[in-house]
Amino acid sequence: MDTDWLIVGGGIHGVHIAARLIGEGGVAADRVRIVDPAARLLERWRACTATTGMAFLRSPTVHHLDLDPWSLRDFAGKRRGRARGLFAPPYDRPALGLFNTHCERVIERFGLQKLHVRERVTACNVLTDGVLARLSDGDEVFARHVVLALGASEQPFWPDWAPTNHPRVHHVFAPKFSGWPSEQVECVAVIGGGISAGQIALRLVREGHRVYLIARHALRQHQFDSDPGWLGPKHMSSFRRERRLERRRAMISEARHRGSVPPDLRRALRRAFRAGQITWHQAEVAELFGTPETVTLRLATADVVEVERVLLATGFSSTRPGGAMVDNLIKSASLPCARCGYPIVDTALRWHARIHVTGPLAELELGPAARNIAGARRAGDRLVDAIRQGVAGC
Ligand SMILES: Cc1cc2nc3c(=O)[nH]c(=O)nc-3n(C[C@H](O)[C@H](O)[C@H](O)COP(=O)(O)OP(=O)(O)OC[C@H]3O[C@@H](n4cnc5c(N)ncnc54)[C@H](O)[C@@H]3O)c2cc1C
Repeated sequence: MDTDWLIVGGGIHGVHIAARLIGEGGVAADRVRIVDPAARLLERWRACTATTGMAFLRSPTVHHLDLDPWSLRDFAGKRRGRARGLFAPPYDRPALGLFNTHCERVIERFGLQKLHVRERVTACNVLTDGVLARLSDGDEVFARHVVLALGASEQPFWPDWAPTNHPRVHHVFAPKFSGWPSEQVECVAVIGGGISAGQIALRLVREGHRVYLIARHALRQHQFDSDPGWLGPKHMSSFRRERRLERRRAMISEARHRGSVPPDLRRALRRAFRAGQITWHQAEVAELFGTPETVTLRLATADVVEVERVLLATGFSSTRPGGAMVDNLIKSASLPCARCGYPIVDTALRWHARIHVTGPLAELELGPAARNIAGARRAGDRLVDAIRQGVAGC
């Protein structure tokens, strides 16, 4: 197979980039392919968000996968949308169902399903006029340009004390997560202090389970996972002026409110604590003992919690995504990386003349919001600008 643009990863980022290339970059749809092993595009997004039981996104209406920032608002019909509970204050955050239906419309509008190759890219070799990508079925695709849209969703973070093979210990974002309790009432410990842990604890309460929520820190309140100033010049000007990449990494770590919850979730959790529906422990887990039927957690506070199931909602590992495929590409094409292991790219998000990046891999250029939906939109802006200026394209 031969194509102009090969997008590796069919998540939020890959789908948005495809829409931008076709809708604004002047790239013919049949010259784009999206490689992702899932049966349908956005599979990891749908699975992770469905598990949490979240009703609304954390981000505002203008962050979605279509081109026009107002597309989602118009799709819902702004006033009618509010009346029907399709947006939540503040910032008109869209309902998850609405957002997902709108994503489907974007996929349909640009005919992206037809461009989806249901495989994994196992290797990329840079040639003089393009990149040769090897797929998991043994086929090869020659692409004049590659966009690496690899999110973190394949690398859930497992704390050291948590066994990966115990039948009653699960990570809620594990690619094949099947650890949700059945209809029988269970005693469940949720580990984590961020938005997903809080949402999962409340979903378990709604389903009638007895819940412990165990976090290393007190509930930290932030509306967004980074200040909206990081989407514009307010914070990004100083980020761009900073040439030292270690300093940029430090700015990102400082700016990302990891393990934080928005005010409405914090209120709901506090109500559940007061009502005795969730037992809160602020402590490190020191040790875990398991039998086939129960799990005992010994906390650093010396408290002991006995449950029938442990659900880890500890987010994703911060290591560079892409595994061996990206490691080998770096070696074979001598791609530059910062000390943190992440790509050094130019303003057009080029890691190499033929390889662009988005998502976590674009973090040192796009800043703290790079992983989010807003980051996909910023990456789309950069790619479309590059094509228009003739820096990338065909
Ligand atoms: C529960 C939850 C809620 C969130 N809510 C919000 C929100 O409200 N607002 C917001 O802005 N952000 C939110 N985020 C953050 C972020 O927007 C999402 O995580 C988003 O799904 C990231 O998209 P992505 O495309 O980078 O990654 P992914 O969803 O991880 O997609 C990457 C895809 O690449 C595939 N892939 C990996 N390696 C290869 C390979 N070698 N070959 C082919 N395919 C490969 C993977 O299988 C995957 O399908 C949320 C995240 C989570 C987990």
